[in-house]
Amino acid sequence: MTFGVAVRDQPVQYLKGVGPKKAELLTKLGVVTVSDLLFLFPHRYEDRSAVKKIAEIEAGQVESVRATVRETSASYRSRGGRRVFEVSFGDETGVLKGIWFRAPAKAYQARFEAGSRWLVTGKVDFDKYKGSKRVTHPECAPLGDEEGDDEGDTLGPKILPVYPLTEGLPQRAVRSALLAAQEYVHDLVDFLPDSLNQTYRLPPLAEALRQLHWPEPDADVARLNAFDTRAHKKLVFNEFFITQAALALKRRQERAAPGDPFDVGDALMAKIRSVFPFPLTGAQSRALDEIAGDFASGHPMNRLLQGDVGSGKTAVALGAALIAVRNKKQAALMVPTEILAAQHHRNLTRLLAKTPVNVVLLTAGSDGKKETQAAIADGSAHIVVGTHALIQDGVAFHDLGLAIVDEQHRFGVRQRAALMARGHRVHALIMTATPIPRTLAMTAYGDLDVTVIDELPPGRTPIETTVYPPSRRGDALARLREEVAKGRQAYVIYPLVEESEKLELKAATTMFEELQKEGLAGLRLGLTHGRMKPAEKDAVMAAFRDGTVDVLVSTTVVEVGVDVANATAIMIEHAERFGLSQLHQLRGRVGRSSHRSCCLLMADTGPGAPGWERLKVMARHQDGFAVAEADLALRGAGDFFGVKQSGVAQFRLGDILRDQVILAEARKVAFAVVERDPTLSAPEWATLKKGIEANWATRFALGEIG
Ligand code: ADP
Ligand code: MG
Repeated sequence: MTFGVAVRDQPVQYLKGVGPKKAELLTKLGVVTVSDLLFLFPHRYEDRSAVKKIAEIEAGQVESVRATVRETSASYRSRGGRRVFEVSFGDETGVLKGIWFRAPAKAYQARFEAGSRWLVTGKVDFDKYKGSKRVTHPECAPLGDEEGDDEGDTLGPKILPVYPLTEGLPQRAVRSALLAAQEYVHDLVDFLPDSLNQTYRLPPLAEALRQLHWPEPDADVARLNAFDTRAHKKLVFNEFFITQAALALKRRQERAAPGDPFDVGDALMAKIRSVFPFPLTGAQSRALDEIAGDFASGHPMNRLLQGDVGSGKTAVALGAALIAVRNKKQAALMVPTEILAAQHHRNLTRLLAKTPVNVVLLTAGSDGKKETQAAIADGSAHIVVGTHALIQDGVAFHDLGLAIVDEQHRFGVRQRAALMARGHRVHALIMTATPIPRTLAMTAYGDLDVTVIDELPPGRTPIETTVYPPSRRGDALARLREEVAKGRQAYVIYPLVEESEKLELKAATTMFEELQKEGLAGLRLGLTHGRMKPAEKDAVMAAFRDGTVDVLVSTTVVEVGVDVANATAIMIEHAERFGLSQLHQLRGRVGRSSHRSCCLLMADTGPGAPGWERLKVMARHQDGFAVAEADLALRGAGDFFGVKQSGVAQFRLGDILRDQVILAEARKVAFAVVERDPTLSAPEWATLKKGIEANWATRFALGEIG
């Protein structure tokens, strides 16, 4: 133990029974100190009193048993024409059959290894013919090496917390480490003052932690598992409160920073609008006006531009870039893929051909990097389009005034900050098609102003979306050929590059050859995927754009941003493997002109299967917001935003969808606190301030709190 340091801040190794090996493994779960350990929460709870022996369970009831997989030779046979996968689970009192219809056999065989232990839950029925108990589509949670917990000892607590684990770290090791840490719960300081806990009827921090790690025997297991206890609410409130306070501070700092107001006079704006070959839509116009307002305000802009796929965000970005350039500043446009960078560069160059504005391209693979970097440094490059290469060493801007990030969900907050740091008081415009419901956007990106483009360019018709079972593959291919016969083009999208035995996916490369020989024989096919060299990718994309390739077979490298108006059909293989928002993005590759377009979703299953029903959501909804809401409801917020989702904090317990009410309240209070005490100098906020400085300052690129 290091002298003078509180136990809570000591490494976990300080605890009884936690040696260097265990400590090392705990690091993988983000646990370094005793306090980290106390903030490692159970992700579910097991009610021991509810788990029965196989001999005790009854037909017609939903029951849980702990059992071992007896038979690996799980049969794979036909029953009434349906494929069936079976696992024999056993305990010392009997055998229970688990049955799955249409299960991916290989994956299931690997999952249910002989000897592996499971908590099996489901509605029991009785197979008259075989005289055995069985469960159809049971819920199975791996027990790993939890044997020690449930064999022999009937004395332990009735409700057992189940913690997230990492390889080599058994459940009981985490539980015993927590027990050793129990006495230090009271050393933790609640950054929420008592008065606020009382206002919201929340238990103090120590009490909440106790209830989560060591629930009382009479605690409500269902509520614990639903994260719906006062203890959960307390910790969720704290999590939201500290991030919202950090966002409030950031917003304040940004508002306070003085900037150079730009000229956005009518003459300039009219000139900028004349650059486009089309009149801006009302929504684009409004967006540009809001941006102009920011530029004129004298404060650095921080705006999120949100608009569905195909709504024309690029034009707004270009307008903003031109305002900056006319005000003698450079503008940078950072995008996630080389294909998209090349496309933006080409379009901007073409639109600005008659102007003196110089647009350059900078990606890892682009030619003449030295000269491009020199042009960026001496200011002769006015608009710089590029990938991550823009924030690499060696890139110095002459005078960067505007940083635009396209498809920002592919970037992190730090990358955004890194780009802004390339200049002085840089304005930021962040673009996304990820249609986050507005209330969530306000909280997820609390430091940004939000502009929504809620209108598509004129003449667009809905994209006819159809889900096809494997048996109707021929019809889908015929539909593609039909489009090509009309002079249109098509995409065929695959989830992976190479054949992966395990997932039984058809990979783009193999299927490309097969389609060429069979399904799409006679058509001109092109292939792109992530493992190709940039020059090769460029060549194929150019051929597709120029119309010398009819069908582009591709992995998801074309997922974002790619804009080829003549493409009117997109066929997505193994559609169930994609999230709904990703499917929406992919679907957005077509329907970019007034030609009618179609999206063909190739399912691996048929009607009735859960995956099929999820794909049907796509057929029902055109609008990205509707798709997103359905997706959000299906997957939960954490998954929806994705791990890399920038700007959105990763919460341990909080779920911005499930806990919307708490979020709104925590936000209100946090913003009010920062309003009253912008430097958090009152003693009651000392712990909060320290917490923000330690955990959020770098993540939010927050300056000195003061
Ligand atoms: P996204 O918002 O998905 O980035 P894009 O900026 O790629 O959308 O625009 C989609 C297509 O719509 C492009 O081909 C673009 O030229 C076209 N477009 C954008 N704005 C308009 C408009 N106001 N009128 C007609 N076509 C437009
Ligand atoms: Mg775009």
